[in-house]
Amino acid sequence: MARVALVTGGMGGLGEAVCIKLAALNYHVVTTYSPGNTKADEWLAGMKAQGFNFRAYPCDVADYESAKQCVAIIEKEVGPIDVLVNNAGITRDMTFKKMDKVNWDAVIHTNLDSVFNMTKPVCDGMTDRGWGRIINISSVNGQKGAFGQTNYSAAKAGMHGFTKALALEVARKGVTVNTISPGYIGTKMVMAIDKTVLDTKIIPQIPMARLGKPEEVAGLVAYLSSEEAAFLTGANIAINGGQHMQ
Ligand code: NDP
Repeated sequence: MARVALVTGGMGGLGEAVCIKLAALNYHVVTTYSPGNTKADEWLAGMKAQGFNFRAYPCDVADYESAKQCVAIIEKEVGPIDVLVNNAGITRDMTFKKMDKVNWDAVIHTNLDSVFNMTKPVCDGMTDRGWGRIINISSVNGQKGAFGQTNYSAAKAGMHGFTKALALEVARKGVTVNTISPGYIGTKMVMAIDKTVLDTKIIPQIPMARLGKPEEVAGLVAYLSSEEAAFLTGANIAINGGQHMQ
């Protein structure tokens, strides 16, 4: 039977590529969207026209009750979740001098608390069934820090601490937990950056002299979701065109 993969934020640039890749590999793909997203039906229709029959559920990943309810509905309507990709995220960039509590909290709740909120209702089922893959989408900026991103860098670095600790706890139960840290990928989150900043400050930092492609990150998610990746856990895999090497 096809494994069920839940990708949070699947209607965004990276998430969409991940949904498509996992569907192509015969996973039963389910995604989430923010409760306020009015374009969800349009996205689903567009995907259907391309041959992808995704199911999508409203969920505020920053809110524990919303995440818990969403997982319960998915497990009832679709089946137990085998692969969880914690992909939903936001940025609210500003220097620390300008950073206020609202923008700090928004990024920590959406990027870091969300990992707890989504993983908590899914993880026990995975360990009970003896198989699971948890994949947390972090960022190069969680590894190296970034000007104007104290909130985002803290959240993304925190994700990997979570990965390592949980990986230890579930290692004997057939569940792997890994972090992917992409560099700059050509999605709407990155295309929202001023073009001059992209051309003069960001691309020159990337030895490959280009942005990454969402499909390249999706390929890595697919590998981590696979049977072959069973011995890989607690890792933070960089995919950044050589921008930052650890
Ligand atoms: P997008 O902005 O294209 O997509 C982000 C997704 O997150 C959207 O689908 C959005 O859903 C969802 N989302 C945001 N807030 C919430 C919420 N409270 N509840 C539920 N869903 C929410 O970004 P990307 O595809 O570029 O980024 C995806 C992930 O990859 C993020 O975690 C990002 O930090 C990370 N990343 C991206 C990089 C890049 O270069 N693009 C580089 C490194 C990491 P909706 O539209 O319905 O609100």
